[in-house]
Amino acid sequence: MADQPREIILEGIGVSPGVVIGKAFLLTTEEDRFVEREITGDEIPREVARFEEALIETRRQIHEIQQKVSAAIGQDNAGIFDAHLLVVDDRAFVEEVIRGLSAHHRNVEAVLYEVAERYAEALGRIEDDYLRERAADVRDVTRRILRNLSGKSRSDIMEMEEPCIVVANDLAPSETATMDKDKVIGFATDLGSPTSHTAIMARAIGIPAIVGLHDVSVRVSVGDEVLVDGGKGLFIIHPSRERLDRYGKLLENRKHIETELTRLKDEPAETLDGYQVLLSANIERPEDAASVRAHGARGVGLFRSEYLFLSRESLPSEEEQYEVYADLARRLFPDPAIIRTIDLGGDKFLSHMRTAPELNPFMGWRAIRFCLAQPDIFKTQLRAILRASASENVKIMYPMVSSVDEVLQANALLEEAKAELREAGKKFNDDLDVGVMIEVPSAALVADLIAPHVRFFSIGTNDLVQYTLAVDRVNERIAYLYKPTHPAILKLLKNTIDISHQHSIWSGICGEMAGNPLLVPLLVGLGADELSVSPSLAPMVKDVIRKLRYTQAEELAAKALASVSPKEVLDLCRELTQEVAPEIIQLME
Ligand code: PEP
Ligand code: MG
Repeated sequence: MADQPREIILEGIGVSPGVVIGKAFLLTTEEDRFVEREITGDEIPREVARFEEALIETRRQIHEIQQKVSAAIGQDNAGIFDAHLLVVDDRAFVEEVIRGLSAHHRNVEAVLYEVAERYAEALGRIEDDYLRERAADVRDVTRRILRNLSGKSRSDIMEMEEPCIVVANDLAPSETATMDKDKVIGFATDLGSPTSHTAIMARAIGIPAIVGLHDVSVRVSVGDEVLVDGGKGLFIIHPSRERLDRYGKLLENRKHIETELTRLKDEPAETLDGYQVLLSANIERPEDAASVRAHGARGVGLFRSEYLFLSRESLPSEEEQYEVYADLARRLFPDPAIIRTIDLGGDKFLSHMRTAPELNPFMGWRAIRFCLAQPDIFKTQLRAILRASASENVKIMYPMVSSVDEVLQANALLEEAKAELREAGKKFNDDLDVGVMIEVPSAALVADLIAPHVRFFSIGTNDLVQYTLAVDRVNERIAYLYKPTHPAILKLLKNTIDISHQHSIWSGICGEMAGNPLLVPLLVGLGADELSVSPSLAPMVKDVIRKLRYTQAEELAAKALASVSPKEVLDLCRELTQEVAPEIIQLME
C-alpha cells in the first residue's frame, strides 16, 4: 500500500464557517490551464519544439521582469529571478520532460506538469527553508511555461465534473458570486480578508471558506485531498485518519446544535425581557430572497444591487432592474426590502466600463460618488426602485455617504426621477423611506446633520472599520489590525445610534459585525434597532438575542465603552455569550 502523504496544516483567516473535505481544484488564471491528451509517436518532435519555444519565451520574460524589478527596487531584490532562471536552464529537468514525452505519449503540458510536481514535492519534503522555497520557484516557473505553451482562456469553475474545493491566489467577488454550491463545496485563497466582498459572498452562498493563507495556491496540487475548516481558518492537505475521525465527531455535534437552532425560525428576535430587534438579512442575488425567511430573518436590510451590474457586458436597463426589485419586494412582502443603490468601485468593478485605475480604489470613485457623477446611470436605477416601491415594502439607501451635501444631491436626483415617472404615468410610492449608510467616519460624526434628511441609518461597519482604523479591508497582511471592537468604532456606533434616536429615526447595522454572535449582545446594548446579517448566520444571532436580557446587554455596552482595547471588549463579549448561549461558542470553535 502506498504511504499516506504527510499531513500539511496551513492557518489562514476563516471567513465562512463549516467543515468540508474534498479534492482540490486549483483555479489559476485561464492561461495556466491545460488539457491532458494522448499523443502519437509522430507528434513528439512537434511537442519538443513547442516546449523549446516556450522555454525561450519564459527565459525572455524572466529576464525582462528581473530588469524591471532591478530598476525599480534594486538588484538585490531581483535576485529571486536568478533562481527562476536556474529552473528554466536546468538541463536535467528539461531532459526529463523530453524523455517523458516518448515514455508516456502524453502532450508536453501534462508531462511537464507531472515532472515539475515531482521535483517540487521532493524539494518541499526536505527540512530546509531554502530548498522549500525552491519548490515554490519550480511551480512558479512551470506555470509560466504552461502559460507560454497554451495561452488558454481563463479556467472555468463550471467545467468541474465533481464537487471540489477551489484553491486560488485570489478570487474576485463576481467569481465567488457565480459559484455553484453543488460544484464548489469550499474555497481557500492566498489573499483576502474577512470583510472582502469575496468573503461576504462565501457566507452568503454558505460555503466554508478560508482566505489569507499566503501560499496555499502553490502548496496544493490538483486532486489533493484537503479539509477546510472555515470556522477556525484551518486548511489541511492530506488530512490524517485520526483527524478525519475527530472532525466526524465534531460535525455530528454541530449538526445537532444547528438542528435545534432551525426550530427558532418563526420565533421573534426578542430578548428575555422583551426588547425587540429587527433581524433582517443581507443578500446579493435576488434568488437568495428565499433563504431569508428560511433562516428566520424578516426582510432584507441590505440588498447589494451592484451584483446585478457585475459579470455582464452592458448595464441593466430600467425595465430589467424594475423586474428584479419588484420580484424581490413581492417575495419578501410584507417584510421590508432595503435596496442599496449601486456600490461600484472598491473591490467591485464593471467589466465593460473602462475606468482609470486608481491607487486607492476604496477611497476613490466609488458608490454614491460614482452615482452622482453618472446621473443617467443613477436615475435609471432610482426610477426602477421607485416603480418597485409601489408595493410599499421597498426602502432605498445610499452607500458611502461622507457629507450632508451628497445626501441632498442624491435626494434631488430622486425627486427628478419621481417627476419623470409622474410624467410617464408610472406608479410609485411617493413616501418611500430613504436612508443612508453610515460607513465613513465623517458621516458618523455629522450624523446629526444628516438625520433630518433621512428616515433611517444603516451602519456599514465593514467600511467604517476600514476607514476609521486606516486598515484596508482586503489586505490580509494587516488583517490583524482590523478590529471591529476598537474603542473608536464603539464611540462612532454609540454616537450614530443615539443621534438617530434623538431624531426619532432608527439605526440598523448591516456590516459583518452584526452577524458575529459574540458581538450581538454589544450591538443590542448600544441600542441597535435592526441587525442585518448573512442569512446563514441569522439562526445563531437570533439564538443569542433570545437568550439575553436587555439589561445584560446594556451593562456590557457600558463596560465596553469604558474599555481601552479591542481585546478587552472582545473578552467581555465572549464572556457574556458563553454565559447566555454556550452552544454558540461550541458552534464557532
Ligand atoms: C459595510 O461596509 O459594512 C457594508 C455593509 O457594505 P459593503 O460590505 O457592501 O461595503
Ligand atoms: Mg460598505
